[in-house]
Amino acid sequence: LHNEETVDSWIYTTCGYCGTGCGLYLGVKKGRAVAVKPNPSSSVNQGQLCLKGIYAWKTLEHPERATRPLRRVGEKMVPITWEEAHETLARKIREALEQGGPEAIGIYHGGQLTLEEYYALHKLAKGVLGTPNIDANTRLCMASTSMGYIRSFGIDAPPGCYEDLDTAEVIFILGANPAEMHPQVWQRILRNRQRKGTKLIVADPRLTLPASVADLHLRLRCGSNIPLVYSIIYVLIRENLLDWGFITKATAGFEDLKVAAQDFPPEVAQELTGVPARDIIQAAHLFGRAATAVTLFCQGVNQSLQAVDTVTLINSLHLITGKIGRPGCAPLSLTGQSSSLSMREIGGAGSLPGLRNPKNPRHRHEVARFWGVEEKILPQHTNDIHTMLELIDAGRLRVLWVIGTNPAVSLPDQQYVRRQLERVFLVVQDIFYPLETAYYADLFLPAAQWGEKTGTITNSERRVNLVQKVTQPPGKAQDDLTIICQVARNLGAGRLFPWPGPEEVFNELKELTRHRPNDLTGITYNRLKAEGGIQWPCPEGAKTGTARLYTDGFFPTDPAVSQAYGEFNANPGRAKLWAVPYHPPSPFKDPDYPFWLNTGRVIEHYHTRTKTKRILELNVLIPQPFVEINPQDAAALGIKEGDWVKVVSRQGWVKVRARVTPVVSKGEVFLPFHFGDLDPGERQQPQAANHLTSRITDPISRQPLTKVGTCRLEKIESG
Ligand code: SF4
Repeated sequence: LHNEETVDSWIYTTCGYCGTGCGLYLGVKKGRAVAVKPNPSSSVNQGQLCLKGIYAWKTLEHPERATRPLRRVGEKMVPITWEEAHETLARKIREALEQGGPEAIGIYHGGQLTLEEYYALHKLAKGVLGTPNIDANTRLCMASTSMGYIRSFGIDAPPGCYEDLDTAEVIFILGANPAEMHPQVWQRILRNRQRKGTKLIVADPRLTLPASVADLHLRLRCGSNIPLVYSIIYVLIRENLLDWGFITKATAGFEDLKVAAQDFPPEVAQELTGVPARDIIQAAHLFGRAATAVTLFCQGVNQSLQAVDTVTLINSLHLITGKIGRPGCAPLSLTGQSSSLSMREIGGAGSLPGLRNPKNPRHRHEVARFWGVEEKILPQHTNDIHTMLELIDAGRLRVLWVIGTNPAVSLPDQQYVRRQLERVFLVVQDIFYPLETAYYADLFLPAAQWGEKTGTITNSERRVNLVQKVTQPPGKAQDDLTIICQVARNLGAGRLFPWPGPEEVFNELKELTRHRPNDLTGITYNRLKAEGGIQWPCPEGAKTGTARLYTDGFFPTDPAVSQAYGEFNANPGRAKLWAVPYHPPSPFKDPDYPFWLNTGRVIEHYHTRTKTKRILELNVLIPQPFVEINPQDAAALGIKEGDWVKVVSRQGWVKVRARVTPVVSKGEVFLPFHFGDLDPGERQQPQAANHLTSRITDPISRQPLTKVGTCRLEKIESG
């Protein structure tokens, strides 16, 4: 990891990859990052790091870092000055506003910026431009969880914390693979199993590492979360494994939920999910009889059929058993990116800062008055990225500004996405060049990355952590906050962006959280440096943050308004138990595409590999995409390990190597989504998994269903 003798100083910071939020120190020698070591006093990672954290510093001075702004001239991208770059973007925005109004501008950003950068960006979009077109790649990640929390509890906030994993008697992992995606959360679970025998239930179509060591693996079919969770609820109700005191005092809607669950006795659920009825009953017994339980969930829920409905059922599982708001008990979503939750607090999932609801006139008034802008300029809703692409298709969105995300790999139905990227004036702000999305750019802005800027990022358990600048960005690259503020100044809105640095931004934005559920007013940069990460809410004067929510009641929820943030008060102080419908996945079945298509991640890579493919130690482990095929299916198709296989869906095709493995069930295949098509050779033989996925989304969260596509397999040649 490091050599103490080669390091001048160690700077306190936080890992910038996944939402676990591990504490670490970056070692600096003569102003350059040269090493990393875990922070032993971090309560999150307790002195450990995973592969990605260990090598995080290696991209800081990579030769492919973007170092100067570029503008398209014909087929070429040519270097320009920052003055030209800022003015070009401001001019394009002004022209778009004149020609098409605020709707003609779109912003789509990632989940690895800092809270301060999100705040500046959303202030620019909503308080200056007044555009409804701002979305984050949380649309691919946590949008369903966000809506599920709002529907059940009234606000978008993970109720529990990692410490709950230490005291839970049972951990139920549903649609998550922390061993690959949140490795330090997984290590914590393993330590607790060894120490105190925590029972582990894993519901996953694949035989993942957690599934392979679980006490009970519920190997459900792709897309069958709803009947599985309903059936567990059915058994809990049938056998009275309920907390009646909690149901009566703190919830609304139990009778409706009970009636809905009656359709899912374990024998029926067995037919719908493929999970033996006895295993469903055992899962219910383990969960219901334990004094404490945590459910961890992630993309197997968020990107699957009826995603928001599934989240609300998971919440209900905890509500009817009283397993929430006390140690060792929580439905806890695992956020994918380092600052996904910061983004959701500021508005990345459609809210206004302070978890405010833009549909609520009082909330809009509060934000407009604080910013000193006209209330009418604030959009009452925001359009997701899918809607923005449709607006481009219709010729109504003219300038799209993409910041720190890579839609030419990550969005579903790549052919459609790339057509739209070609049609719009595309501004790409990122840290590497070349980059798949930058291939379509008209203007490219080189940005600073983690380690080159200071700010805060909030992890999966609401813990606000500090990231610190330890080295200068390469060449002329600028941090995102500087770029955003300069564009605002060029648009004549400089008075709203007066901050000399990120700490002043933090101090402004935290005032907007005062007395809100995510109150940050008790947090300062100095406190974060001295005490480490602090969990919100942490009101001014509070000695500590808040480990878990709902210890003494809930925010009001509204059964009729799915986007309620609390002010449409129907059930004061109670959580809502939703009787969600069940829509069987039969419309997706297609004899021409007989396999279920599941896409996901591997531990070695992060998102679209922008960083990890450039880290030799990681990329060498998984340098190529692959498709996992069950041995029975492979034998039937004459496919052997390492053969080239064409995977074909209604949307497109890819050519990848076969990995023949019982990790996937018969009739299902799995592809990692990390890989893109950058060079011309790859473009002829595409390998990005999102060529195969469709634009069908969850109807409530608008999150794409990238875990439940269909495809067929064609063997091409022997490997
Ligand atoms: Fe970084 Fe996540 Fe690994 Fe922790 S678990 S070191 S936050 S990538």
